[in-house]
Parts: sequence; structure tokens; C-alpha cells
Amino acid sequence: MREGSLEAPTRHPLDWQNESFYDEGAVEKELARIFDICHGCRRCVNLCTAFPTLFDLIDASATLEVDGVAKADYRKVVDQCYLCDMCYMTKCPYVPPHPWNVDFPHVMLRAKAVKFKKGQVAFRDKLLTSTDALGKLAAIPVVAQTVNALNRNSAARSAMQGALGVHKDRELPPYAPRKFRAAAAPSAAFAQKDGANTPGKVALFATCYVNYNEPAMGHDLLAVLAHNEIPYVIVEKEGCCGMPKLELGDLESVARLKAINLPPLAQLARNGYAILTPVPSCTLMFKQEIPLLFPDDPDVQAVQDAMFDPFEYLVLRNRDGLLKKDFTQALGNVSYHIPCHSRVQNMGQKTRELLEMIPGTKVTTVERCAGHDGTWGVKTEYFESSMKIGRPVFRLMADATPDWISSDCPIAARHIRQGMGAQASAAQKAHPLTLLRKAYER
Ligand code: SF4
Ligand code: SF4
Repeated sequence: MREGSLEAPTRHPLDWQNESFYDEGAVEKELARIFDICHGCRRCVNLCTAFPTLFDLIDASATLEVDGVAKADYRKVVDQCYLCDMCYMTKCPYVPPHPWNVDFPHVMLRAKAVKFKKGQVAFRDKLLTSTDALGKLAAIPVVAQTVNALNRNSAARSAMQGALGVHKDRELPPYAPRKFRAAAAPSAAFAQKDGANTPGKVALFATCYVNYNEPAMGHDLLAVLAHNEIPYVIVEKEGCCGMPKLELGDLESVARLKAINLPPLAQLARNGYAILTPVPSCTLMFKQEIPLLFPDDPDVQAVQDAMFDPFEYLVLRNRDGLLKKDFTQALGNVSYHIPCHSRVQNMGQKTRELLEMIPGTKVTTVERCAGHDGTWGVKTEYFESSMKIGRPVFRLMADATPDWISSDCPIAARHIRQGMGAQASAAQKAHPLTLLRKAYER
């Protein structure tokens, strides 16, 4: 048997509609098989808390092997995994096509799906992952103001921790009084200029986060497109991309959301639009996770092919000779964090590449997991772990004495800003799209 694989990793589709996918005995057997390989390897020990939890269980067992760990304790490992995919994409030499066929995140996902199917998921977790429903309710203007005020009130936050298990110290994103999709400026009638690498017109999938929490990011992206004379449309109808439900193991809800999102997106893809989503987890959902859940669906394939991260699109636009570089504002020192869900898209560091084109701008790139994930770092029981995982990121971001703290993932950026505390000094938090718009300002 060869040690490690030299071939490019491939990923097997998930057979999640087959009853055997939920066979608890089979899942435990597969967990034990993969845990045993990981025990012999231990390369991922510092990636997250799932691996240290596993290795501590093995090291405390009577046999010092996986067979000494109680099956009931496997869940302790599963609960620590927030499906960032970093172990699979950046560390593991035993991923397919290696015959050991180690896909740690996917066996975690399968175990989460079993747990969900057995009804062993807390009300809190179902609520936090209902981003679209929560956003619709909380973004009603007067409700938004009340929710935002309560989120800043320590007594209300203590009550929320007791009742819901949302850690009282976690800084939560505010809800915007005006939703992005309702306020988005229509595109000017620019002529469509296709490039060799990029379609010359864009459809924007806004995402729940931009729509309800940080509409400014979406407006900044539209301003950047307008500056580059790229015509755009806002996707007519959208629901949550499904990533929060995927992370919960609620695959039926992922399928329900896919049924809402895919028909209009596939139509746009077939009509020659580049589809952009400004949140990396949502982009990854359409590029990778939905295709692995629905490998034979032609709509899914069409959307996968048309989907771009915004900076991936803009850098390719530059390669096509169609990006304006008439920057007028220097940005100074930017501490930029590349989130896991951008890294695992295998597209390179496109945001860094573009920000470095701006004169008078020094970009310090931090390429480590910040430890928040969508909802994981919000939960009372994982808040401390999420701050601990993020500590090296907070330090590296502060070491560059930044003017700006930035990450493609707005949730990670908020978490990093919180973790940096006084170390952030006078640095401001801004999304890379906001920085790019600023650099173009007249
Ligand atoms: S997917 Fe991410 S959180 Fe899960 S085990 Fe791998 S590195 Fe850890
Ligand atoms: S996931 Fe792969 S690299 Fe990581 S500990 Fe397991 S076998 Fe080793």
C-alpha cells in the first residue's frame, strides 16, 4: 500500500437518499474505520477541536486504540466538527482516489444526518439554521431595532443564553432595517462584453446574510460591477443556500431549499449569466455541496458551471483585459483573512490578488481557520473553543498593525474583530468588496 496519494483529490457523491445512508450500525463502523486511520496519522491535530477530542478519547481508553472508545462517545467528535472541509482539502493524503478513501467531513455529515433523522437535534439548532425565516421576521423595521437593542443588552443576552444556548458574549450581527434585495439599485444598460474566461453579464444571488444583516456588502458589489460597466440582475427569487441546514445534517431541508433556488439559477446560467454570491459558504454550497448531493441533476450542473466567487470573477475579468484599474484611493495596511470555505473552492487567493493591485496597499494574508463557522461559534458550549481556535488568527491579524481588518466571510470578520479586542486598535472592519469600492472612489 502506497503512503499517501499523489493524484488530485476526488470526492464521491453522497448517497443520502438511500435508506442505508442512515443505518446507524454502518455509520459507526465507518466512523471506527476512519478514526483508526486518523489515530495512526494525527496530522490534523491542530486544525479544529474534533481531532483533539478523538485523540483524547483514544488516549484515555483502556486499549489505547479506537476499539477502546465507547460508540456513544463518537458523537463527542461529531459535535465538534463544523464541516469546514479543511482536513479533506488541505491535509489528508488518504482522500479518494487513495484506496483508504478517507473523507472525514462526509462521515461527520452522515453521522449528523443520522442524529437529525432520529430527532436528536435541539430546538436552538433548528432555529439558528433557519436563516431565511429568522431574517424575514427580524428584518421588519421595528422588529429589527428591537432585536438589535436586545442583542446589545446584557440582561437580555443572559436570558437568551439560558433559554436558547446562544452565548451571551458572542457579538451578533445586527439586522438591517432595509433588506438588500428591496433596495438594490437597478443596473444601467451597459453593453455586454464577454471575455474568454468570463461572461459579460452577472446575476447576483444575494444570500440571507447580505439581504438581512449586511446589505452594504451587496451594494458595494453592485457599485464595483457598475464601475466596470458590467450589466447585472438580482436573482428573482431566492431562499437560503442550504449550508446551515447541511451543517445540521438536515438534508431534507437542503433538498427543499434547492427546489426553490435551482430553477431560477439554472435559467440564468443557461442564459449566459455569471452567477455571483458574496458569501463564501453559499458559493461553496452551489459549487460543491449541492452537486455532491444531486450529482445527476442537469440544473445543478449548469449552476455549478456558472457560479463564481466575486473576486474570482473580477480577477478573471482582469485576465480578460476587462477590469478597470483606475484606483484612486490607497488602502494602507490590510489584514486579510481567507476563510476556509474560500480556500476549499480551490481557486487560489483571488481576493488578495485583486487587493494587491491597488497602489498604496499592503495586504497581510492570514490563512488559518478562525474557528467561528456559521452558527457553531455562537452556541454556548462551543463559544470558548471558537475563541481558542481563532487565537492565532487574531494575533497574526494584529501583528500587521492594520488600518483594515477584512475577510471574505463577514461572520468570520466579526468574530476576528471581537477576538482581537484592544489589539485591533484603530483598525476598522470592512469586507473586501467594501475596500474595493473605496479604492475606486472619486
Ligand atoms: S471538516 Fe473542519 S471542523 Fe470538521 S474535522 Fe475537518 S477540519 Fe475539523
Ligand atoms: S483526516 Fe487524514 S490527515 Fe487528518 S488525521 Fe485523519 S487520516 Fe490524517
